[in-house]
Amino acid sequence: MKTKFIFVTGGVLSSLGKGLAAASLGALLKARNISVTIQKLDPYINVDPGTMNPFQHGEVFVTDDGAETDLDLGHYERYLNISLSHKNNTTSGAIYNNVIAKERRGDYLGGTVQVIPHITDEIKRFVLALGEGEDAPDVAIIEIGGTVGDIEGLPFLEAIRQLRSDLGRDNCLNIHLTLVPYLRAAGEFKTKPTQHSVKELLSIGIQPDIILCRCEQVMPDDLRKKIALFCNVDPDAVFCSIDVGNIYELPLSFFEEGFDQKVAIMMRLPARNAHLEPWREMVYNFAHPKGEVTIAIVGKYVDLKEAYKSLHEALMHGGVANRVAVNLRYVNSEQIDDKTAASLLAGVDGILVPGGFGYRGVEGKVCAIRYARENRIPFFGICLGMQCAVIEFARHVAGLEDANSAGFDKHSANKVIYLMTEWYDVHTKNVERRNETSDKGGTMRLGAYPCKIAPDTRAAAAYGTDLVHERHRHRYEFNNAFKDLLAEKGLVYSGVSPDDSLVEIIELKDHPWFLGCQFHPEFKSRPMQPHPLFRDFIRAAVEQKASKGQKPQD
Ligand code: GLN
Repeated sequence: MKTKFIFVTGGVLSSLGKGLAAASLGALLKARNISVTIQKLDPYINVDPGTMNPFQHGEVFVTDDGAETDLDLGHYERYLNISLSHKNNTTSGAIYNNVIAKERRGDYLGGTVQVIPHITDEIKRFVLALGEGEDAPDVAIIEIGGTVGDIEGLPFLEAIRQLRSDLGRDNCLNIHLTLVPYLRAAGEFKTKPTQHSVKELLSIGIQPDIILCRCEQVMPDDLRKKIALFCNVDPDAVFCSIDVGNIYELPLSFFEEGFDQKVAIMMRLPARNAHLEPWREMVYNFAHPKGEVTIAIVGKYVDLKEAYKSLHEALMHGGVANRVAVNLRYVNSEQIDDKTAASLLAGVDGILVPGGFGYRGVEGKVCAIRYARENRIPFFGICLGMQCAVIEFARHVAGLEDANSAGFDKHSANKVIYLMTEWYDVHTKNVERRNETSDKGGTMRLGAYPCKIAPDTRAAAAYGTDLVHERHRHRYEFNNAFKDLLAEKGLVYSGVSPDDSLVEIIELKDHPWFLGCQFHPEFKSRPMQPHPLFRDFIRAAVEQKASKGQKPQD
């Protein structure tokens, strides 16, 4: 197997930025012209994060092939500019699920099924699958979720321990990310947590090759030497992952540290220089905006930014494309009604209603959309946000007062959004899963689907092409029974499925920028290739702000 494996584990505590560190290393190797893929192993028991509450788990990131994955895959795609799949994320639950299914089928021929070797073999198979096939990458980075010392993580750590002997020393590298806190009172960095964490790793047979220390500022050399001595690594194999102002600076900071160089040497990868100019330029543009706009995000998960990770990033990318900083104002949709909308949304240059599930907060979203439409404020609705825009338009422009989604009001005579089961049975990629599960898991339209773009629309202006592929994650659809009626009132269908059966993008003509899409464009936005819809939404917000400035003061 030509692929070499880098395993990234984390110690001391969670949220040290292991995903970003793994993604940054991937970006640097890629900039050295080394082909890279990246995978996340999550120790929790859920089979995938699809049914997990965003409050607890953050965003569910959807891949082209319709896998519902950990949000770290979003970082991987954004930093490496690659498209990942179900092969890039698994969980303990999925691993056990496979092993138990095999056991039931009799694959183990009556043997006793155990964590070692059966669970660990299943994990190894999943990891090694990345190295199979003609287009196997030079390097696969494997991030192990959780913190060393967690009970759940043990089978994964045991699997990577075994892989090192299976594949040989030169073909594997262990990187351990820890925390080196700076105690202000003592005026000192503290290495003890790192020592303990490495001890914990050693006790299960894993000797880290590189220690990456999360610290507030760059550590002095003598401290690196101390960590190297106590943790049994090369003195030049201790690196700092310092706090950066913008997450896209991290690869540059790693580069300054010589992190990728050391990895390349230890793994005997070709000694090339990283070509980082385009990345540097992007980071420079982030740091030097020429103006700013304020965007309101009207949603339910306003207290947990992780729930809108990709959305947040896509808005930032849209800002960079227009050379402006994007300030986000998270507005709780449950607090918005016709009376409060004006004050809660005062002064914003654009309003975005993101995807979501459940009825809670929907009426507030409808109010916010009405406010955006009537006050000619740029509006962008994503998935549930688009559905709410259709409901708003049907109620207040087309006069269908009780218009609603079938998911929210079964008794409405005007279900402008509904469940299109016949279509799903024929077209979705998850029919098998749908058949074997009851309702909650596996009943959604997931992953990338084609969408035809109508000429002379805002969507066409943004995309500049007549066919796009965008990622979906929803059950409900626009109800075609209302297509003609709403079109007569001015709703424009600027994106539809190639067979015309599904409305994918709606917009309004007589409005500065009002667009809703059934898919999630945020999953495909990259810092170096901002998504066209986000780019144009932010551009509209910039124009909105400029026109406000020109208006005479009341
Ligand atoms: N709840 C809606 C549906 O299932 C919207 C989903 C979403 O916004 N991702 O269709």
